[in-house]
Amino acid sequence: MITGKNYIGNSLSADGTITYRTFNPKTNTTNENIYSEATSKEIQEAVNLASEAFKEFRTISGVKKAAFLNAIADEILALDDELVKVYMSETGLPEGRAKGERGRTIGQLRTFAKLIEEGSWVEARIDPAQPERIPNPRVDLRKMLVPIGPIVVFGASNFPLAYSTAGGDTASALASGCPVIVKSHPMHAGTGELVASAIAKAAQKTGMPNGVFSNLNSSGIEVGQELVSHPKVKGVGFTGSIRGGRALLDLAAKRKEPIPVFAEMGSINPVILLPKALENKGESWAKTYAKSITLGTGQFCTNPGLILGIQSESLTNFINILSEEIVQIKPQCMLHPNIHAAYTNNKLQAQDQENVTTVAAITETVTENYAQQAVATVEGKTFLENSTLHEEVFGPFSLVVQCENEAELEAIISNLEGQLTGTILSEENEVSDYDNIIKALSDRVGRIIFNGVPTGVEVVPAMLHGGPYPASTDSRFTAVGRDAIKRWVRPFSFQDFPNELLPDELKNENPLQILRLVDDQETKAAL
Ligand code: NAP
Repeated sequence: MITGKNYIGNSLSADGTITYRTFNPKTNTTNENIYSEATSKEIQEAVNLASEAFKEFRTISGVKKAAFLNAIADEILALDDELVKVYMSETGLPEGRAKGERGRTIGQLRTFAKLIEEGSWVEARIDPAQPERIPNPRVDLRKMLVPIGPIVVFGASNFPLAYSTAGGDTASALASGCPVIVKSHPMHAGTGELVASAIAKAAQKTGMPNGVFSNLNSSGIEVGQELVSHPKVKGVGFTGSIRGGRALLDLAAKRKEPIPVFAEMGSINPVILLPKALENKGESWAKTYAKSITLGTGQFCTNPGLILGIQSESLTNFINILSEEIVQIKPQCMLHPNIHAAYTNNKLQAQDQENVTTVAAITETVTENYAQQAVATVEGKTFLENSTLHEEVFGPFSLVVQCENEAELEAIISNLEGQLTGTILSEENEVSDYDNIIKALSDRVGRIIFNGVPTGVEVVPAMLHGGPYPASTDSRFTAVGRDAIKRWVRPFSFQDFPNELLPDELKNENPLQILRLVDDQETKAAL
């Protein structure tokens, strides 16, 4: 019996187990391996084990946890070609991308290992007692960041390695001292299982507690919902659609004890073309953007889906060149038939809106599961009035909005939903004349880019990957870079606690030699 989604191909075996296979979009065939949907019993077991593991894992030293993260990186590398092959067979992505993403994943694990090995990330603050203070003696207070408990991580369809099983959410949560239960993405269950086996080996080799990590397979939403509702789960990391992220946020808020959900969701990443930049460099920007829109078949959360300019001859030229360039790029395979179907529907929906003109589109038949890239254009007034045009079209599609004047451009930017990124294309000295535009854009995005493209997210401490809702559910945090660890911790204070019972980070002797704020002074000195 076939149930549920097309292509995921769930089936119910005689003993009641739901099974499914992954799909190779390049060959348009189902992959061989069969995966079983996690049962309620397995969910309970994973969460109970994680909750038990937390008791020990939360107190394990940064050095030991770092060894665990580095061992995960080593074990992933040891999977070698097998991982690359399975990755490619479940995504249609090329070998270079598989290896690049693996490098990013390894890099993230090692970055967090380095951070916790050094240890100062816990933001230790010490305000020693002042028994002589008049009129009231001051108590001894010491504060640091502590892990919140078991975290559920949802694998992302578009990053089977870097934002899935051992991706940024998992690496940062483990680094903080939180056990992780991954709800594997059904489109790449095989990649997920291989990476999970690497994590299990690393946990064993470095003596981590049983239950510090679990990987649950699932081809439907129920497993994820049961996990998010479980009282012993204390936080959620998610990358995917607004619909999915919002459903989990609402579910978490309705719990008896609500928990934080850090969801990174849809974004159309507006790009603002200032007049002089268009006039002097319009052709070169059009060529650059044809490539950026189609990079990775447009399947990046930072894909430039919206380009805004003020009506002019230069803007018309830009649209013409972008149109010529984009259809010359060879159509590429999408991750999965379901993603391809969503792209086709959402693109058609945008193109079918009143007063929208399609200016470029691949119209000839392409190989099954390959995306036909397109560019459409619309006047500013129509865009302002029609919120359907603000929705993400996940894939190689972009809408160019022609504004009547600067005031309309500012109004459009101010009315945009929250975005991961916003880009300004400007000539030297031009941008200073558009202060209102910069301010409006800064209000709506997590990262502002000057004369570049939004695709490409560096994993460095200064990166902010997040933004006002619905780009993410909490704009105060980032999903990329070392500060991503802050999503899984809470500040905790000790008052007048005996020195020997304090965590090493807060002991008088400062045995870890970390940087601390003592009496308002940053220091590594002992007390
Ligand atoms: P998704 O549909 O949001 O699913 C992501 C994960 O969340 C999957 O494991 C899914 O489970 C689960 N899920 C979805 N809705 C849920 C719910 N109501 N309750 C519990 N769990 C739920 O995203 P996707 O499968 O990655 O891709 C679908 C679309 O999402 C794309 O076409 C694209 O529009 C968008 N997307 C956006 C980004 C971005 O960064 N902006 C990234 C990836 C995808 P099941 O699959 O098992 O149902």
